[in-house]
Amino acid sequence: MSKLQPARGTRDIYGEDARNMTAVVDTFRRVAGTYGFEELATPIFEFTEVYKRPLGEASDIVSKEMYTFEDRGGEEVTLRPEFTAGVCRAFISNGMQQKLPCRLMSHGPAFRYERPQKGRYRQFHQINAELLGQDSPEADIDMIAMAWRLLKDLGLGDKVVLHLNTLGDKESRADYRAALVAYFEGHKDKLSEDSLRRLESNPLRILDSKDESDKEVVANAPKLSEHLNEASSAFFETVKKGLEAVGVPYIHDERLVRGMDYYCHTAFEFVTTELGAQGTVLGGGRYDGLIEQLGGPAVAGVGWAGGIERLAMLSEAGGAPARPVVIMPMGEAGTMKGLEVAETLRTEGFVVTADRSGNMKKRMNRADKANAAFAVIIGDNEVEQGVVTLKRLDSGEQSEVTFADLATAIKTN
Ligand code: ATP
Ligand code: MG
Repeated sequence: MSKLQPARGTRDIYGEDARNMTAVVDTFRRVAGTYGFEELATPIFEFTEVYKRPLGEASDIVSKEMYTFEDRGGEEVTLRPEFTAGVCRAFISNGMQQKLPCRLMSHGPAFRYERPQKGRYRQFHQINAELLGQDSPEADIDMIAMAWRLLKDLGLGDKVVLHLNTLGDKESRADYRAALVAYFEGHKDKLSEDSLRRLESNPLRILDSKDESDKEVVANAPKLSEHLNEASSAFFETVKKGLEAVGVPYIHDERLVRGMDYYCHTAFEFVTTELGAQGTVLGGGRYDGLIEQLGGPAVAGVGWAGGIERLAMLSEAGGAPARPVVIMPMGEAGTMKGLEVAETLRTEGFVVTADRSGNMKKRMNRADKANAAFAVIIGDNEVEQGVVTLKRLDSGEQSEVTFADLATAIKTN
């Protein structure tokens, strides 16, 4: 029989991978908590409309990556490909504009139909933070500073670089769009099919193309920075100044456009060179029109998402699991007492497991494999005398210890 495998692009997460990923989420919660963020868990699927328009019909996600299907009741739903649109939908659904600003953190799986490779899966996991109801550039600085603090706490301070750009406001983008279209129209013969399609739907996305011939054309394309109106320039200047004030290093990357249509002004990505083509570990930006587009009030937003798998691979923040104390009871009284002793030790904060089967040699072998630090042997005789045998597994050294002294003996050993 051939091995039963998980579906392509999905995987089972356990052991070291699971520990590293949990550490990323724990660190995220702690750091975002210090910025006043609170948890929001949205459903893993939404009506397709939630994603379709905000992300843009021509975006890679909507045009080719979404898991969209009709459910048994005939509703068209989509597995969450990203968090922002769902968070904004939840903001509207729950009337959260009554208490602005909202600082919302989430984490969990996301789904995109992509070509699987290292650091790129069809089911992957994100941490996500959104700040709703602040339209000033200082809010963007707060969000980037929070991401930077998280990355530093994960030990990635010297492994990632912040790429920063501005997409300007609507007026600047319209002006730039016209200039871009005029330029690309003159180089149509060199553009890929994808880019020709984007020329109609969303020419800015051509700047993000990975196609070699596209890249050559893009190299000489007009720059957005030359088409920014005064307000957009001022906004970007403040963001840059603020980043300097809070000590976040960045490079201005004029080609950075991000994959979703909903962004305006600030766009950013933290990139590493250590994961090959899967180098972006965290990205985000400002999306002032999104909530309105979804049918809600005019509330500004800025946020980011980080890829948990990529962050976990880079940081290995999980460390080794705590070494357990293994209870090894013999006889009926020993077994009962062992249950009690284990609970007492857990109350003291020790990791305690029990091995109740096989001879002592087998149990010691299993304890070694589990990287246990101590074995606590409790037989019927010992119960009568009020003691256990405590064995330190690294040295093999053992001694008799009273029940009352056990926790202290383990701590000081
Ligand atoms: P990429 O350019 O690598 O496709 P993206 O721009 O599509 O990334 P975002 O939509 O900004 O990514 O998502 C935020 C983060 O989620 C990314 O920076 C990345 O770390 C992670 N991510 C995105 N897609 C995947 C995937 N298919 N598998 C694993 N992680 C992913
Ligand atoms: Mg992508």
